[in-house]
Amino acid sequence: MLQYPNLEQALKYYFGYDNFRPGQRQIIEQALQNRDLMIVMPTGGGKSLCFQLPALLKKGITIVVSPLIALMQDQVEGLRDNGITATFLNSSLNSYQTRSREEAIINGKVKLLYVAPERLLSDRFLPFLDLVHHKVGISAFAIDEAHCVSEWGHDFRPEYRQLKSLRKRYPDIPTLALTATATDRVRGDIIQQLGLKQPSIHIASFNRQNLYYEVRPKTKYAYAELLEIIRENQGSGIIYCLTRKKVDEITSKLENDKISALPYHAGLSDEERSKNQTRFIRDDVRVMVATIAFGMGINKPDVRFVVHFDISRNLESYYQESGRAGRDGEPSRCTLFFGYGDIKTIEFLINQKPDSQEQLIAKQQLRQIIDYAEGTDCRRTIQLGYFGERFAGNCGNCDNCRHPKPVQDWTIEAMKFLSCVARTKERFGMLYIIDVLRGAKNQKIAQNEHDKLSTYGIGKDKSLDEWRMLGRSLLHQGLIEQTSDGYSVLKLNALSWEVMRRQRTVSIAVPVVQKITVEHGSEKAAEVEILMQRLRSLRKQLADEQSVPPYVIFQDSTLKLMAQVQPQTKAEFSKLSGVGSHKLAQYGDKFLAQIRAYRTEQGLSTKEDNSFPPSVNSPSDTELYTLQLHQQGHSITEIAKKRNIRPTTIVRHLCDLMEKNQPVDVNQLVSLERQQKIWQVLEVLGDISLTPIKEYLGESYSFDEIRLVRGKWRRERRKYPPGT
Ligand code: ADP
Ligand code: ZN
Repeated sequence: MLQYPNLEQALKYYFGYDNFRPGQRQIIEQALQNRDLMIVMPTGGGKSLCFQLPALLKKGITIVVSPLIALMQDQVEGLRDNGITATFLNSSLNSYQTRSREEAIINGKVKLLYVAPERLLSDRFLPFLDLVHHKVGISAFAIDEAHCVSEWGHDFRPEYRQLKSLRKRYPDIPTLALTATATDRVRGDIIQQLGLKQPSIHIASFNRQNLYYEVRPKTKYAYAELLEIIRENQGSGIIYCLTRKKVDEITSKLENDKISALPYHAGLSDEERSKNQTRFIRDDVRVMVATIAFGMGINKPDVRFVVHFDISRNLESYYQESGRAGRDGEPSRCTLFFGYGDIKTIEFLINQKPDSQEQLIAKQQLRQIIDYAEGTDCRRTIQLGYFGERFAGNCGNCDNCRHPKPVQDWTIEAMKFLSCVARTKERFGMLYIIDVLRGAKNQKIAQNEHDKLSTYGIGKDKSLDEWRMLGRSLLHQGLIEQTSDGYSVLKLNALSWEVMRRQRTVSIAVPVVQKITVEHGSEKAAEVEILMQRLRSLRKQLADEQSVPPYVIFQDSTLKLMAQVQPQTKAEFSKLSGVGSHKLAQYGDKFLAQIRAYRTEQGLSTKEDNSFPPSVNSPSDTELYTLQLHQQGHSITEIAKKRNIRPTTIVRHLCDLMEKNQPVDVNQLVSLERQQKIWQVLEVLGDISLTPIKEYLGESYSFDEIRLVRGKWRRERRKYPPGT
């Protein structure tokens, strides 16, 4: 095992990051001291690192309990791309794959094992776990999404309840519980249910500084505004709607407007859902239009905007859903379209609940999110206050802080509104009152002879939305009341009369029409953007070749740094945040080549880097000559002799030829039996550097053999990505 003088160096070596996020360092130190830990961090806080880095630094294997197959696969892919030996066991594997993975685990080749709780606790698996404990040593249990253990959480999973038995079976193995849940009740439940022993509890702030929060009135222009948000953004986004029907409707509208979008809701087959999800994660499609069925298990870090086209049921859900934006810490936007019609829909749904207590709670929660949406204070202050966290306000990154709403005197309008309620004898709801004020010609008004009232048509100067805003605000301020019998009839109270008698003025916060301002940056910014686009497409190409999501290769923040700094040597490249030792070796040359090509085109200076290979996708002359001799049936040694170059160079040629999809026949070079052995290890360890693979196979295998088989394996994976 490598020894690190300090944790920062280990962080850079394995993950490529220069600094710990708040809390991470202390947590990792305690994990290294084998303490039980309870880690509460918001989405994107960087929870995974808290058990991953200790797992690498400690002896033995860390078992990670994770509820969803998709989550496991994502994490394992990400780790492998950093050259870390991680693997998972779940129902998606066949028995052959399972066996070879188990073998690797027993041989101590794996540092992190991801597994679902039901498998972990099965009668078949426990004896295996004992064996692992005995032979390799279990360094820790990490329980991810630990709130699943609590019935009070939103994702309760009965299988999680049984995790307590792990504590009994292995009392001395430290346990880490990780969650993003914001409520006290669930946190307490986790500690108790998992039997954590005097855990060190870390609760990070729930403030997500990189997210811009805004609420917009849901007018008839809402869809146009949505389009504008999507068009002004480069990256991926999620649009949440309340119903399946709405999801389908918005998806097809977006398609009409040439936005690549896919739907996700419970009405689609499992297969279709997972296909759409994968396409979104891999950046094949930009926008996911979804009901709340789409959520947990999406740890795509580069979601740039989350739009709630319909309101969420409560503020905690809104926080979690909108929080799927910007996990990577880059600026991202959360927009909520707020319309009173949606509230009616949710109220209707609430009234369907059989339990009156539940109804009461749900209504109160609805009230809270309405307060948030209508609020004129800093959005962060309202949200964090709801979670019991005090925030000073004035965050500078929400609509209310950036564009404070002017408060206007609407006493005259309020008098018109209230007296219309009085004249119609307090027997109608808001919409009817507004119709009368605006002089609508409809049958009901005519029948009631309300077109003869003095208040008929006196409010034509204001739009329906404006009157509604006033009406809601009057309710909100307690200047009028509404029956809760399902009909929402407006009733006057003492304060209403004070307003009508001019004893009280009425002020309301009026939303200003918001224009999204596109920042017209300097020329330099435009240049960076062009290079960024190219780096993005290179990243996408590499990701597709390996059949992994693009962010596994490099995250947006790292690409951005590349485009800004424009490193020209490997040494410079390795300094970027997000470039660890493994990624430098794996991708450095390719990205450097792209940057150089760009600089050459722009007439900018370029430096020589001696380790630089030419970036061409068609074979060079010397490679073609090797191929020719290979196709004539010559062995590697023969070709080397003939050409008077080293055999290793010939092997390099052949591997590069395979990368370029040239017909190299590995069967001619490595025996089938040996190929099979190497192949098996690749399946277990993934596409990592040669040294650990060789270490695994033992002395009798040469680097050249492994390199050739890996070339073939990569080619197969390009053709038939796993899971197809
Ligand atoms: P969580 O599970 O808490 O939602 P993740 O563990 O997925 O968060 O981390 C969120 C993102 O932040 C990931 O893309 C991760 O690579 C990145 N990250 C984590 N720790 C650091 C760090 N110290 N420096 C930079 N990026 C980090
Ligand atoms: Zn604010």
